[in-house]
Amino acid sequence: MSEERKPAKSEGRDGVRPPQMLFWIVTVIAVIFLFMALSRTGGKAEKLSDPESLLGEVEARAVKEIVQYREQFAPTVFRVIYADAARRPLQFISPNAEFDRRLYDAAAKVMAEDMERGAPVTLSFQTAEPEFNLKTLLPYIPALILFILFFYIVTRLFRAPGAGGGVLSFGKSRARLVSKEMSKITFADVAGIEEAKEEVREIIEFLKNPGKFQRLGGRVPRGVVLVGPPGTGKTLLAKAIAGEANVPFFSICGSDFVEMFVGVGASRVRDLFKQARENSPCIIFLDEIDAVGRRRGTGLGGGHDEREQTLNAILVEMDGFESDEGIIIVAATNRPDVLDPALLRPGRFDREIVIDLPDVKGREEILKVHTGKVKTGPDLDLKRLARATPTFSGAELAAVVNEAAIQAAMRDREFVTTADMEEARDKIRWGRQKRMVMLEDDRRITAYHEAGHALVAHCLPEVEPLHKVTIIPRGMALGATMQLPEHDRYHMSRRRILGDVCVTYGGRVAEELFCGDVTSGAREDIRRATELLRLVVCELGMSESLGPLSFTETEEHLFLGREIARTRNHSEKLNEEIDTEVRALSRQCYERARAIVKEHEGAVHRIAAELLKREVLSGEELGVLVAEEEQARGGEGSSAPQA
Ligand code: ADP
Ligand code: MG
Ligand code: ZN
Repeated sequence: MSEERKPAKSEGRDGVRPPQMLFWIVTVIAVIFLFMALSRTGGKAEKLSDPESLLGEVEARAVKEIVQYREQFAPTVFRVIYADAARRPLQFISPNAEFDRRLYDAAAKVMAEDMERGAPVTLSFQTAEPEFNLKTLLPYIPALILFILFFYIVTRLFRAPGAGGGVLSFGKSRARLVSKEMSKITFADVAGIEEAKEEVREIIEFLKNPGKFQRLGGRVPRGVVLVGPPGTGKTLLAKAIAGEANVPFFSICGSDFVEMFVGVGASRVRDLFKQARENSPCIIFLDEIDAVGRRRGTGLGGGHDEREQTLNAILVEMDGFESDEGIIIVAATNRPDVLDPALLRPGRFDREIVIDLPDVKGREEILKVHTGKVKTGPDLDLKRLARATPTFSGAELAAVVNEAAIQAAMRDREFVTTADMEEARDKIRWGRQKRMVMLEDDRRITAYHEAGHALVAHCLPEVEPLHKVTIIPRGMALGATMQLPEHDRYHMSRRRILGDVCVTYGGRVAEELFCGDVTSGAREDIRRATELLRLVVCELGMSESLGPLSFTETEEHLFLGREIARTRNHSEKLNEEIDTEVRALSRQCYERARAIVKEHEGAVHRIAAELLKREVLSGEELGVLVAEEEQARGGEGSSAPQA
């Protein structure tokens, strides 16, 4: 994004911060300490300039004492004390081991002579451990390390309040000021969410010309909340509002408020509003507001006091300014349900703009916006791609286009083709293709499993048409059968859901019939089928025997506020009936899938064989295979048995 950190008032200090300086001082001291230990602190050991003359002096009895410091890893150091007390003792590093021996021999010879003569021995030769070596230091090293670690942690803690903020800045808002020139995002960059754009148009009008509204006495909303799943363009839209209105844009993320120091969040809020007032008209953007805006008085354990203070500060500040100040607060969240009701009261965030996942048309437009930035080939069909990306968010679509462009570049292509896009889509949705070596047996099982899914999908008219089936492992899956909706669906019929369950069971059925045993490969399928069936019975009221009732068990996440208890609104006996019903439906679907696969046994063999050969089959190719098999069988009826 074209944002730039301005050296705003809030972040004045640069350079080395005191805690950091302390850390460096300690480190330097520690390093010096270590060096001193490693090099013998006997210290001024020099190179011996004239070894021969020293040996001569020893033999001439000019030396009183020789001390040899042995060390494991370094050359020996000698200390020589002269008989003449006026001469400075000499300390030197032995030039070589040969010299060590010669010096020792010389000393020994002198001593032996003295003893032989019965005279007192004037020379002493000792060996000593160096006073200061690694070994003597060893016990202190752990303490030293702890010391350094301690300081490191302390400095880190002080710096924690954020990338830019140090201990000195912790009351200040880290809101970034994006100046007028900087927010270059306009409505042209936001696609597929026309209703939301329409709704914020009036805000832009107000920001451009606050006076116009006041003349008529109208009150413009002080705050709007953008609500929608992640990646649907909430942040983008907020920036686009600033860009269109050509006003500064202060943004701060909810989690920035929640800091380790109590009271920081609240003072940040005050600072943020103060800055905004100085720059009005402008937009304050509170991203991920659910981090602070949760219902007060819920949650377990401590730690929410800080949040409550922050939230209170926001409420107070929002009440404190008049709408003629020309500040609009835009908040974004994907959890509107946990927001504190006080936030959503009229006069605060009184307008809620829902941004939903884009529909086919929206996806096509978003793709258009993003493919506008890359070179695309003539064959690129955005309509089809939009159709093939159900439930993708704007962010995911942007990622698909980007990924496709990378793929095309990697393959030295001039432009992005449909194949690149489809590969990118699969990668974003299911993960990267894996180049793993599979045993022939594993591949065979996967081929039959996918052939089972694909055949059932092909035979059931009520489910989405088959797009492609593959046994190329990707992400967590060993293979995949993909269906492609013709339109976005807003209703799910019972027939359709049960049909989906049949397709889901198709894989397991094929394993059972053709592979001699069932495998763990169907785990996800089983899970999904169970989920769908429970949905049918418990939430959609589609079960014949139990009737149109909802049997959900409300269980909310502990930390999201509100209900903690698991409540069940039906009896134990009904619970049993639910299980019975789910099982009955499951058996029905499984039997139906089995009947279909059995009837088209030949086709399944063909599909599996073809998959083993080619790894990928498109829906059309599979249709041809099934039709061929029908003909080979002599044109028997191809209609699937219905449940
Ligand atoms: P959110 O804040 O809702 O989680 P963002 O606004 O951060 O999502 O979207 C992330 C990215 O996804 C954007 O930068 C943009 O590239 C892309 N994107 C999302 N929605 C749209 C859209 N409606 N039109 C164009 N691009 C979009
Ligand atoms: Mg966002
Ligand atoms: Zn499967």
